[in-house]
Amino acid sequence: MSSDLPEPWREFPGVGPKLAERLAALGITRPEGLLTHLPLRYEDRTRITALGDLRPGTNAQVVGEAQSVQIVAGRRPMLVVLLADESGFVCLRFFHFTSRMRQAFRRGAHYLCFGEVRAGTNGLELVHPGFRAVPRGRPVAVESRLTPVYPAAAGITQFQLRRCVESAFAALDAGRLAGYALASVQNGWPDLREALERIHFPPPEAGTPQTDDPALMRLAFDELLAHHLALRASRASRARESAPDLSVGARLAARMRAALPFALTEAQGRSVKEITADLAGPRPMRRLLQGDVGSGKTAVAALAAAQAIGAGFQVAFMAPTELLAEQHLRSLAPWCRETGIESGLLTASTPAADRKRLRKRIQAGEPWLLVGTHALITEGAALPRLGLAIVDEQHRFGVGQRLALSSGSDRFSPHQLVMTATPIPRTLAMTLYADLDVSTLDELPPGRRPVTTAVMNEERRAELVKRIGALVAAGQQAYWVCPLIEESEVLAAEAAEKTAEALAAALPDVEVALVHGRLKETEKNEIMRRFMAGAIGLLVATTVIEVGVDVPNASLMVVENAERLGLAQLHQLRGRVGRGEVASHCVLLYRGPLSARARERLAALRSTTDGFRIAETDLKLRGPGELVGKRQAGLAQLRVADLVRDRDLLAKVAPVAGKLAGTQPETCAALVRFWLGEAVRYAKA
Ligand code: ADP
Ligand code: MG
Repeated sequence: MSSDLPEPWREFPGVGPKLAERLAALGITRPEGLLTHLPLRYEDRTRITALGDLRPGTNAQVVGEAQSVQIVAGRRPMLVVLLADESGFVCLRFFHFTSRMRQAFRRGAHYLCFGEVRAGTNGLELVHPGFRAVPRGRPVAVESRLTPVYPAAAGITQFQLRRCVESAFAALDAGRLAGYALASVQNGWPDLREALERIHFPPPEAGTPQTDDPALMRLAFDELLAHHLALRASRASRARESAPDLSVGARLAARMRAALPFALTEAQGRSVKEITADLAGPRPMRRLLQGDVGSGKTAVAALAAAQAIGAGFQVAFMAPTELLAEQHLRSLAPWCRETGIESGLLTASTPAADRKRLRKRIQAGEPWLLVGTHALITEGAALPRLGLAIVDEQHRFGVGQRLALSSGSDRFSPHQLVMTATPIPRTLAMTLYADLDVSTLDELPPGRRPVTTAVMNEERRAELVKRIGALVAAGQQAYWVCPLIEESEVLAAEAAEKTAEALAAALPDVEVALVHGRLKETEKNEIMRRFMAGAIGLLVATTVIEVGVDVPNASLMVVENAERLGLAQLHQLRGRVGRGEVASHCVLLYRGPLSARARERLAALRSTTDGFRIAETDLKLRGPGELVGKRQAGLAQLRVADLVRDRDLLAKVAPVAGKLAGTQPETCAALVRFWLGEAVRYAKA
């Protein structure tokens, strides 16, 4: 048995260290996570379509005999297989293929294929279909249920994912979870196992699950309930904990405030006051600081940090990515220097020797502002005198991670300040942020200009490229995003590559660079650093740049194929510009003609900058059978529940939790364990 296989997988068949790592990249860290990894869509492989009946634009499963197997030469060779049955032909086309794939096809053999039918130059084609050889002359076994297609990651096939999900079903002990008093919520909801089966492997006669499917609602409610139960318990236990007293740190905080290069906005001043009061109190602070992008959360957090350090405690400042951690340190370092506070950075890129030195000093308990990625700080660097933990972009961490952070030493629990740029409505705050008090920055520092959004047909691309040339000549920078429109990362990276080449050719005076998900982390970071430093004028990217990079000098965001992206994601992308003093623009390029729904979606984005209203529109305009949004850039890292779709459920969570906590503590513990894992202990509230 390999020792680097994480504990939850030890007893699980078919998952070794490598697969465990790849599953983790999908957010699946335990068998239960497989069950709550919802399909993106379903394929109907329950029947076989005759080749003569194929229609472009549909998905189909076909069986045929290979008439020819060819490698077509070109800049990139292509594998082309002509398949025939009694009724007609179809051409299988592979832009990428291995020699094993090439050898898998033999003239005269029969194949079962599944894929999207497209109109090609010489008739209908299946591009990159799934395929397997089948014996000739015998009936082909088809699936009896719809086949789920899951959000995937590099190195995992759909087949592997499905097999893992099946194993997770076999391992599921739904006993305790089956029968809590659901009737008090909603009659007619299926039990847990039934609900999961309906979502993962629906029988074809029942149709594709829709967003109002009772099975989905049941799962969503369970998830919300589990989160809320965990938070209730945490809040209750906080009342029994004592916190480090940071009141004597106020002097250092005042010194930092005087060192800031600007006066605080009124909203910042108010939040600082609320935080200062918490930090001087006897119980650990659990406060959410919410404020739109650019509202100045970092300065507020810095003042809180100064207060903790002034009282002789350590502060951990955590960001979701390495780049964001670096960015934070860059803003904080000068303020710290002025105030005489030592700061340090701990990320995966920190050289080992530096890391070791840093750890030593941390262990010695020096007052210290340690900025780093969440993972590194929580796993690698226990701070013995942690007085305050600051978590940026809280919505990208889950409740579980937040709660895991709360446990302090035996004597006291550290204070906690979590920050988010996503507005959180009241019912939601009461349910999923039940353990937190809230401060709001409802005001931007003076001098900001809103981002202007334009929707543009991509036929006008040349015009746009010219504009970029002028913009860069004037010393500004721009992003050009090519979203992942193919399921294959390879194809997406290739499309972005082509775009970057074309843009570089059209803009000889502009430094053009490309980042995509297939680059190594270090290469990606290097390019981002050069963009931040202004050495790159135009950054072409797949959606990897969505994470909160802050380049105030970038004033134009172009998104290609915008009609294919989720609104929440477009909103996030747009948030990358409008951070400086010049007027910023976001151009949504689309390929016409636009459907009525797509037109409405893009118009919604143009008309508002309110993230929650955008999420609402996104849901309203979601296509049939889409259980999850194009990509949920959602709050609270929920796996199944959708805070907009399920807002009616949200109101029922707290009352049910109250009753359940009093009468069925074991059920509560089981719910928390299923949805949040072992890291979050459930103590009766
Ligand atoms: P966010 O809330 O998105 O984290 P930041 O803290 O990164 O925002 O602040 C955005 C920018 O605004 C930074 O460059 C910061 O220095 C600046 N800033 C913050 N507060 C003020 C203020 N009161 N007046 C002027 N500029 C400010
Ligand atoms: Mg920020």
